[in-house]
Amino acid sequence: MKQAELQQHMEEVSLQFFHKEFRHQASFNNRLRTTGGRYLLQSHNIEMNPKYLENFGLAYFIDIMKHELCHYHLHLEKKGYQHRDKDFRELLKKVGAPRFCATIPREITMHEYTCEHCKKSFLRQRRFNVNRYRCGACQGRLRETGSQKIYTENA
Ligand SMILES: [Zn+2]
Ligand SMILES: [Zn+2]
Repeated sequence: MKQAELQQHMEEVSLQFFHKEFRHQASFNNRLRTTGGRYLLQSHNIEMNPKYLENFGLAYFIDIMKHELCHYHLHLEKKGYQHRDKDFRELLKKVGAPRFCATIPREITMHEYTCEHCKKSFLRQRRFNVNRYRCGACQGRLRETGSQKIYTENA
């Protein structure tokens, strides 16, 4: 999806679900990590995360647009535009937008350490120098014994 198409989608979603025009700028922002989109209070523009389009598809992407447009229209109308506001929650429900954005699971590598004495093992995201730390249970020497990939929802 190109920039111009995103703008067009935003305008259409606004008309279809809110019966109001979107008169500002919609753009992709690659740097958004844990959020699918954001509404900028100063400029009234909306930024969308292209990774959410890739990961969840167009239908869900449009749901996120609806969510951001709830912030947009309520803010411009000087109503409660924040997540905790009643106006906001009611409008979300009315247009069928999600309250929060789903998170993209991320693959990370965890390093496994095992105690040479009691054989307990544990995982750490960051590697460390085994000469500088001892087993928390028995003070035995630690050894790096492998690594494994896990999925996490936290970014
Ligand atoms: Zn929001
Ligand atoms: Zn130990």
